Amino acid sequence: MSTSVYNPFLSAQKQFDKTAELLDLDKATSDLLRSPIKEIHFQFPIRMDDGEMKVFKAYRIQHNDARGPAKGGIRFHPQETADTIRALAMWMTWKTAVADIPLGGAKGGVICDPHDLSQEEQERICRAYVRHLSANIGPNLDIPSPEIMTNAQHMLWMLDEYEIIRGERLPGTITGKPVGMGGSLGRVEATGYGVIINVREALKEIGIDIEKTTASIQGFGNVAQHAIELYQQMGGKVNCVSAWDQKEQKALAFKKDDGIILEELKSIADIFGGIDRQKAMDLGYEVMDGEKWLEQEVDILIPAALNNSINSSNMNSVSKSVKLIAEAANGPTSEDAAVFLQDREIFMIPDFLANAGGVICSYFEQVQSNMNYYWEKEEVLSKLDTKITSAYIAVSNFAIENDLNLRDAAYAIAVDRVARACHDRGWV
Ligand code: NAD
Repeated sequence: MSTSVYNPFLSAQKQFDKTAELLDLDKATSDLLRSPIKEIHFQFPIRMDDGEMKVFKAYRIQHNDARGPAKGGIRFHPQETADTIRALAMWMTWKTAVADIPLGGAKGGVICDPHDLSQEEQERICRAYVRHLSANIGPNLDIPSPEIMTNAQHMLWMLDEYEIIRGERLPGTITGKPVGMGGSLGRVEATGYGVIINVREALKEIGIDIEKTTASIQGFGNVAQHAIELYQQMGGKVNCVSAWDQKEQKALAFKKDDGIILEELKSIADIFGGIDRQKAMDLGYEVMDGEKWLEQEVDILIPAALNNSINSSNMNSVSKSVKLIAEAANGPTSEDAAVFLQDREIFMIPDFLANAGGVICSYFEQVQSNMNYYWEKEEVLSKLDTKITSAYIAVSNFAIENDLNLRDAAYAIAVDRVARACHDRGWV
């Protein structure tokens, strides 16, 4: 067995090299796209509540901005590494490109654990982070957003610091702000709804009526709950969901053959998307081991919780009835499992297309913030539908024309769009 440590940036580069070969990219373009255009590694001291000074390491990495200002989250994580940020920045470039929004890709992070920091210490970190980056972010340059362990409050502190430095209000600098403070309506629904718009289009393509389908879903958080909501509105039936149980420290699956009732499960779920076992049993749910979500005899599987949740050790458990997998989470299917499932002719919607609704709505937030004019929710959701549907159709047409699966086609479209933008600008 290999003992080498997984390096996400090497994995992102490997995927890029495969696509570059498929597209027959010239060497200069490949060299440009396989690494970030700009990396800022910095550190800053913060006075902690006990009076001591502590130094924090931080990054902002802009992978590419040929199609528009760079876009991507800022994570607070104790194990953050430059290579993780590099990979995530590159994936953002492909995600904005496949969604065909005029933005590039970036990612940032601070090595810290918010669990060990007071609110005041977190605010000081946010403000210091932006002070050091103020020349490198902005509504026309690079637009951060929340990511792991950062939230709307962190974004507001960062925006406030940036606006103090610039001496003007520039709400389009950062997305993920609270509604009423420059945030967009529809952002909460966007990722989950986007998954189901992709599912709707994929089912049309394979000639299945969504009203006759059933689904099993891993996760019951923001993405899963909104995916279930729209899927049920479209007539689909969810037979099973799984969630992490904090008390039992294991995942549980909740099943109802007539279909789960969303509002019922929401009423017994905690804010982290965990579902209470006893209350679910009282409501007539069969409660099983968490892995069982994968074994259900359904048409559609939607992993909406973790990365690597469908892998070589459980891929054989996927039921023969499954025709479609929509990757709502980031990287939920391991490489070997993806090959195995595609060999079984299961249609797979790759993560960066399936969950692009989130970044599309972040782009809408930026546009609204720049105009200082905010749309009604219906308008946001209707624009989201248009954008995702056309992204799906472009990928699907490319896949059919070039005899590729959706994942390879999505990469090819994304890389091709970015490469063309670099050529058109005269960079390579
Ligand atoms: P969340 O924290 O709101 O919910 C996560 C859910 O997963 C919870 O219900 C939790 O109980 C469940 N879970 C955790 N471990 C599990 C396990 N072992 N088995 C079964 N369920 C488990 O997160 P979210 O915002 O819904 O995001 C879900 C996934 O989608 C993540 O991979 C995230 O990176 C990805 N994603 C989210 C967005 C977004 O806009 N929220 C955008 C793009 C991608």
